[in-house]
Amino acid sequence: MEWCVSMPKVELHAHLNGSVRNSTLFELARVLGEKGVIVFSDVENVIMKDDRTLHEVFKLFDLIHILTTDHSTITRITKEVIEDFASENVVYLELRTTPKRNDSIGMSKRSYMDAVMEGLRAVSSVDVDYCPTGLKTDTVNGTTRKKIYVRFLLSIDRRESTEAAMETVKLALEMRDLGVVGIDLSGNPIVGNWATFLPALKFAREQGLYITLHCGEVPNQEEIKAMIDFLPHRIGHACCFDMENWRRLKSAKIPVEICLTSNIRTETISSIDIHHFVDLYKAKHPLALCTDDFGVFSTSLSREYGLAASAFSLGKTEMFQLAENAIDFIFADDGVKEDLRATFEAAVEKLD
Ligand code: 5GP
Repeated sequence: MEWCVSMPKVELHAHLNGSVRNSTLFELARVLGEKGVIVFSDVENVIMKDDRTLHEVFKLFDLIHILTTDHSTITRITKEVIEDFASENVVYLELRTTPKRNDSIGMSKRSYMDAVMEGLRAVSSVDVDYCPTGLKTDTVNGTTRKKIYVRFLLSIDRRESTEAAMETVKLALEMRDLGVVGIDLSGNPIVGNWATFLPALKFAREQGLYITLHCGEVPNQEEIKAMIDFLPHRIGHACCFDMENWRRLKSAKIPVEICLTSNIRTETISSIDIHHFVDLYKAKHPLALCTDDFGVFSTSLSREYGLAASAFSLGKTEMFQLAENAIDFIFADDGVKEDLRATFEAAVEKLD
């Protein structure tokens, strides 16, 4: 496990509000409990519950959003999430979040994202490179400080309308200079229709944004087929494919973001030994290990690597290669890829 922490890693599938520390959620719940907005003991039980079905996870997100959705809290959790990833040697992070509008507190999708950006700028434990023009690593007292690249994906929630999805895409375009590189489609997979989001996703791609889709969390083969036909740049999960869609995915070579703990905890996959990671890995299909929601699922990227190593009997060399290969699927430019490859090269010499 220690080795998995010290190895450099690339995180491509992390939801901001799913990656909040439990201690922060408790603190926020206590404050809202004291104000009488929520009943603290009810919330405590929900947060502490270990196993949740996919359906229960989305109920939990509604609760988390009550606790976190004001500007200063969004700033705080963004800072903490980036610092947490950096502390376990994640060197490149693509953080995704759903821009939220809440008229009652004067929050627009833009002001929500401004609060996210403020959180990123507040990070102090590590240097953060977040915009395409880049920030050079500082040298403080002759020592090079640790650096993390952060890029953002704006999520469209499946509860949203075509207009709301389009608003998110336009916001992503507006914020390109601030490190927004793409669009994610997420939210409860049994809600909404692919056709609702397609116009916004097409527009996003035409404008040069990268697209990743939550795909196949439930066995909706028609939607899975339509998503593969769209040829997104990556997909997340890929759990419930029938044989025909599995064949399509493999021949299209669409990279898959694999979230082992999330899939097991939500019972999307019944047991780790039958996880589709094995089939994709053996077929050399492009894939990356990711956390999904490290707070909600009590995991970390290092743990996901540790889990893969033990469940699938992978050695250090394979783990390192797996982590390094993820560079190929990031949504940042070639300069970032080169820099990350150099970071891995330097690290391989130090790791035994
Ligand atoms: P946020 O976008 O609010 O920062 O992060 C939480 C949101 O991400 C949830 O409300 C949900 O829309 C999405 N999300 C987080 N985890 C999952 C997951 O495992 N599957 C899907 N489909 N959506 C998720």
